[in-house]
Amino acid sequence: MTSNNTIFGTQFTSVPDVPAGSPLICDASSDIFSRPIDINKYGIVYAGAQKNLGPSGLALVIIRKDLIEQGPKTLPSMLQYRTHHNADSMYNTPPTFGIYVMGLVFKWILKHGGLEGMGKQNEDKARPLYDYLDRSSLFKPATDADSRSLMNVTFVTGDADVDARFIAEATSEGFDGLKGHRSVGGMRASIYNAFPKEGILDLVRFMQNFESQNG
Ligand SMILES: *Cc1c(COP(=O)(O)O)cnc(C)c1O
Repeated sequence: MTSNNTIFGTQFTSVPDVPAGSPLICDASSDIFSRPIDINKYGIVYAGAQKNLGPSGLALVIIRKDLIEQGPKTLPSMLQYRTHHNADSMYNTPPTFGIYVMGLVFKWILKHGGLEGMGKQNEDKARPLYDYLDRSSLFKPATDADSRSLMNVTFVTGDADVDARFIAEATSEGFDGLKGHRSVGGMRASIYNAFPKEGILDLVRFMQNFESQNG
């Protein structure tokens, strides 16, 4: 499973049941450590670092020991989890700077209440934007209320020309990266752990102004 669909802006709110004996494997690249998870339910959780953990260039893997042992030995050694496990993740020279920064991010998370704190902070951050999208007569959320992502807020006006004008005006005001993924269009506000609430309040104010001029 992918716990947060970065492109559509949807997120699982519960962990799906899997048949007995089947390990649940989760790509959590875009919502790792954004909220508490019950790690016992997973066989593997992995995440690229570049969204919630630190700089690009490494991935965090949490894997059950029996799954390390079950991995085929016919894979190239670099692609076997046992290789990295047996070498304390230092089989080759690891990306030390990225690991160092990830350690700083873990300390920052702990200082802000750990995963519970992150979860509360992320709900508090996304709420004003979703509340505005629910009341706006110009912008509409691109997702259903029961599966909305707290990390990637996707929305549309329903008119591709107005979307393009909104993105251009927003960009010139310093709101960068609001263009939706090229495969879906529309807009996307990515508000990962590190993104401050003030940025969201500023965006909502900008959207309200845009709506009053274009609605
Ligand atoms: C960003 C992301 C990835 C990794 O993207 P790369 O650019 O290939 O490193 C993988 N899965 C999800 C869910 C993502 O959001």
